[in-house]
Amino acid sequence: MSDAIKDLPPLRDVIARHGLGADKSLGQHFLLDLNLCARIVRAAGDVTQGTCIEIGPGPGGLTRALLEAGAHVIAVEKDPRCVALLAELAAAVPGRLEVISGDALKLDISTLGRGPRRIVANLPYNVATELLFTWLKTPTAFESMTLMFQREVAQRIAAEPGSKTFGRVSVMSQWLCEVAIAFDINPRAFTPPPKVDSTVISLKPRAVPLAPANAATLQRVTAAAFGQRRKMLRQSLKSLGGDPIALCEASGVDPTARAEALSVEQFCALARNVDSLS
Ligand code: SAM
Repeated sequence: MSDAIKDLPPLRDVIARHGLGADKSLGQHFLLDLNLCARIVRAAGDVTQGTCIEIGPGPGGLTRALLEAGAHVIAVEKDPRCVALLAELAAAVPGRLEVISGDALKLDISTLGRGPRRIVANLPYNVATELLFTWLKTPTAFESMTLMFQREVAQRIAAEPGSKTFGRVSVMSQWLCEVAIAFDINPRAFTPPPKVDSTVISLKPRAVPLAPANAATLQRVTAAAFGQRRKMLRQSLKSLGGDPIALCEASGVDPTARAEALSVEQFCALARNVDSLS
């Protein structure tokens, strides 16, 4: 461990000194086990080049691990108490940690720092999916995203066609990224422990999407199909307007199939035909 980080007081002491009680409304569950933080950083690959963007650094456990691995970090934190606390960490590693005080939902992080940009974060669960959808608008801005989600959400993102958890977030994520589950983390590893299990996943944006489609149309198609996931497509796709059977047939898709049976490429074919038939 580099001396600058090693000589810092333990996270628990820093939290106690700053009176940082966890704020549930901000999804605060702190990871104080530095070995686990280092494991998340290892899952992110080589972090020594470009910029690591961390969302919600909290008291800075994962931030310390990123800095320890040689990263330059730009961290975005909504809680001003954490921003104040992190000033000590920034002072210990001059020029390597910038903390932005603000709401990550309102910030365009695609141009922060210099590339390659990796997002590494233990996400606040209440806004995690919304944040992911925002970043998927500019996927190639990021070299990788190594993100901790509530386990069920992570499983949905990585789910394969045909599984019960395959849904809109699976299609949109896998269309744009290679997705892999890294590992699970037990609730007891956090302070305070959340009620749910957590999973770290890795999303590696593809140079080009898996198949051609307009993103907004694909969103509409997946929202329609999975909005009524127990119904056959000939029924669920009616909400798109037009003739759903003709749409399915033009796309090489069985109109009596249900949304969860389709591949990502088949959703793209539907989206292309929604645009060409309208
Ligand atoms: N990274 C820390 C760790 O692993 O111990 C904290 C993780 S905690 C699950 C989520 C963090 O995100 C909290 O520090 C919280 O204040 C912050 N946060 C919540 N909503 C946010 C938002 N909209 N923008 C930026 N940070 C946010």
